Amino acid sequence: MTYSYVSHLYCPKCEAVYDTKQQHQLCTCGSPLLVDYDWDKLKAAWKPEDLLKREPSLWRYHELLPVENETNVVSQGEGMTPLIKMPTLGQDMDVVNLYMKDEGLVPTGTFKARGAAVGISKAKEVGVKEFAMPTNGNAGAAWALYGAKAGIRSTIVMPKDAPKITRNEVALSGANLYLVNGLISDAGKIVGQAVKDFGLYDVSTLKEPYRIEGKKTMGLEIAEQMNWKMPDVILYPTGGGVGLIGIYKALNELKKLGWVEGDLPRLVAVQATGCAPIVKAWQEGKHESEFWANSSTQAFGINVPKALGDFLVLDAIYKTQGCAIAIDDQTMLDEQEKVARLEGSFVCPEGAAVFAAIRQLQKEGWIKNGETVVALNTGAGIKYPDTVSIDVPTLEIGDSIKKEPAAKN
Ligand SMILES: *Cc1c(COP(=O)(O)O)cnc(C)c1O
Ligand SMILES: [Zn+2]
Repeated sequence: MTYSYVSHLYCPKCEAVYDTKQQHQLCTCGSPLLVDYDWDKLKAAWKPEDLLKREPSLWRYHELLPVENETNVVSQGEGMTPLIKMPTLGQDMDVVNLYMKDEGLVPTGTFKARGAAVGISKAKEVGVKEFAMPTNGNAGAAWALYGAKAGIRSTIVMPKDAPKITRNEVALSGANLYLVNGLISDAGKIVGQAVKDFGLYDVSTLKEPYRIEGKKTMGLEIAEQMNWKMPDVILYPTGGGVGLIGIYKALNELKKLGWVEGDLPRLVAVQATGCAPIVKAWQEGKHESEFWANSSTQAFGINVPKALGDFLVLDAIYKTQGCAIAIDDQTMLDEQEKVARLEGSFVCPEGAAVFAAIRQLQKEGWIKNGETVVALNTGAGIKYPDTVSIDVPTLEIGDSIKKEPAAKN
């Protein structure tokens, strides 16, 4: 039985093609490479019913993933996260068919484990021994830990302000960890030089072709969980944009297979007002973004001043009649509290930005009555212990509670 129907890599800019047996980074023209499959064979061999007996991890879609030999799969059970109805929050914002795809439940606490699982497995398959990457924290944590499981060494460079927990995850994995007094773009320059100096495999966002294949499984799962009917809108907190590009790729691939029909959902890129290059480009009708100087937001995963795949993100937005919207940090944190109070879910700030965006797009009439809306919560709130500040009374031993406790409202 064929484990993967991967056929080749292609360049979305200049249409050059590459094989999948060797290590590849960017196209010679500088564009990221994308993975393609043998559609005729895949269509004949693979049916939605085949999934019914499979384990609830992203490897249930192995035919549409790039790892060719199952023995190379490095997995910690990632994927098939719940798609949860959010009725109370939905009512609060007049979006009655509101769902959350909760990525807080994957290993390492963010969806980054999807990209790492597939990226590391394929790296193992093509013989990578050592890789390097810049990160805002979550990707580094996932890649370092999956790298450790695969026996691949790693060098990780992250801003010194990145969430401390991610620093600990990387360090504990045995990776070479460096902090930089700067942003992810500064970390990227340092990694670029180290890659040249030491011949490391560069797994920076979109500089290797396979991370996106892991992330696209979010789109595959949403379609499967909605019984192969597409929602009207999917919103995604966008940094490097791989998640959004991946979901777009996944839904197009399902259309090619004939597993879903009709228009694709309108895709929405949600950013922070302190770092909104995609939003600015979209507002100006452009197909590429400009570097966002002095970017800053508490939603660390989306603090990316210039994404290599910006043209692919913008293309996905334009082609689906989607939009891009920026949310300020205070609104994001207020929404984080609302989600916890109304739905009992402690979402990450990036996920909270998505819910705030839904609230705003409903008010503006962009989201219409009765539409089915899927919010990606890309990680667990517990990865960001410092974004929430609370003030609670401390009792001495033997003290009693003086007044009748009532839930704050
Ligand atoms: C990385 C990250 C994002 C942004 O994802 P991209 O695919 O890079 O756009 C969003 N949320 C969290 C929690 C992240 O770690
Ligand atoms: Zn090219």
